[in-house]
Amino acid sequence: MHLKHISLNQPQPSHNITSSSSYPISTSIFPTPFPKSLFHHAHTLQPIYNELYARLSDNESWLYDAVIKPLLPVDPFARILWEIQLLVKSKRGGGYGSDTSMGLFRSDYMLHVPRDYNEEVEVEVGNSLLDESENAQQGLLQLKQVEFNTIACAGGCHANKVVDMHRYLTRTGVYDDSLSRANGEERKSPITLSSLPTNENIKGLADSLATAHDIYGPVRSDLATKTGVLFVVQPNNFNVADELPIEYALWDRESPVPTYRVEWGDDVLERTCLSGNRELLFYPHLQGEGSKPVEISVVYLRAGLEVHEYDAVGIACRVRLEQSRAIKCPSVLGHVLTFKKVQQALMAPGVLERFLDSEEKVLAIRDTFVGMYPMDGDSEEGRFARGLATDPETAWRYILKPSLEGGGHNVYGEDIPGFLLGMGSESEWGRYVLMERIRPPVVGNVLMSRMGVEESDVVSELGVFGFCIWKKGEILRNETVGWSLKTKFADVDEMSVVKGFGCFDTPLLV
Ligand code: ADP
Ligand code: MG
Repeated sequence: MHLKHISLNQPQPSHNITSSSSYPISTSIFPTPFPKSLFHHAHTLQPIYNELYARLSDNESWLYDAVIKPLLPVDPFARILWEIQLLVKSKRGGGYGSDTSMGLFRSDYMLHVPRDYNEEVEVEVGNSLLDESENAQQGLLQLKQVEFNTIACAGGCHANKVVDMHRYLTRTGVYDDSLSRANGEERKSPITLSSLPTNENIKGLADSLATAHDIYGPVRSDLATKTGVLFVVQPNNFNVADELPIEYALWDRESPVPTYRVEWGDDVLERTCLSGNRELLFYPHLQGEGSKPVEISVVYLRAGLEVHEYDAVGIACRVRLEQSRAIKCPSVLGHVLTFKKVQQALMAPGVLERFLDSEEKVLAIRDTFVGMYPMDGDSEEGRFARGLATDPETAWRYILKPSLEGGGHNVYGEDIPGFLLGMGSESEWGRYVLMERIRPPVVGNVLMSRMGVEESDVVSELGVFGFCIWKKGEILRNETVGWSLKTKFADVDEMSVVKGFGCFDTPLLV
């Protein structure tokens, strides 16, 4: 049975603080073939994407005109975040607390087979396409961006551990054994250590936060004795196993970076305060820490990404963090860049040219785009997209996306016309963007989740983590940090691993 049919078994957050549940992370049994050249190409794109998004976040007027203004009448989340932004910027809010910004990004891609829509991409075709990596060079396979995440990019630690697992299984000969058993004779599996890239996400993510921590510099407040990084996490957190390894790695450095976690909302308001100079002071309540606060150098948000987190307490929490001198990962301006509307706005003529300083960079980024349209009723493009989205003959080639994080908000293909027509008011359609469906090659693999083990057709998604620090137009650091590969059954639309749709995987580079 496919995950699609049993998605009702999603983990439900526990409201009983004395109990905790854990769910195994889903993984593929075998690494999935992926063209080596495109795997490396995705890595070389990341510094360009980092630079682009750093420059976008520095340009508040472009952000407002191209992204926020069209969303304000229809998108409550855009409204809330922009109100916070305006409040912090105002005289009453005291202005931005820090002129240094940090981004830990993840750019997600799928392989795309550019074909006529009437041709079916068969499993065999997928396998043979992937077998010959020259196909990637010849344009038979392309790398297309699914989305660009700028807040709470998850999965780095899980990816690291699953890659370690696949490499361990390879090293110990498990794949050779299973092939030999299946064929009744000694056989060597094509899965070799040299074809499985190593993954050092945990170290890379910790290094990035440590770099920002160093850039913040020494303690300024008279009250604090040291600086430290603060992870702000969601209550009833189901991502703890993806966050703690980074915290441990920060403590575990030769020169340890003190790292703490606090829950979004009341916990932040109760355990932090702003000094007169707007240092963010945090009271750890740990044994041995005494009553001295820690001055927070970097606020790393793994919360505050979903609209329901912004009640009055949530808003007060975000405002306090924004007002502080700590480097925010991300700031509100960096956060709104995660909206799918940004991807669509970047497609407008001349935008990439305005923010990137070479034609080479512009072309490299534009090559990763698939068609994306606004869904407003005013612009010609919007009206065209409304036609595509409401006609069942064309809608199946598209995905309708609101600017929301956390998974489960998109509307796929055939469901789009009915969804739109059931919405009551057409004016709300402007909240969405319409994105062309990427058509990934389908290959075979065996996926293991808490629902069991199943062999089936699968498709994969490559995420590349990037790190950038910038200060008023000057880029101080710009790096590719790591990657994750996620694989799902080919007939499932969603991908979120924590919601039970996807499996962590390792590329078998071909
Ligand atoms: P979110 O992660 O915020 O829910 P995404 O844009 O990543 O939103 O979409 C969720 C999943 O839907 C993706 O991981 C991918 O599997 C699938 N998906 C999204 N956009 C496309 C697309 N253009 N073509 C094919 N699949 C897509
Ligand atoms: Mg996604």
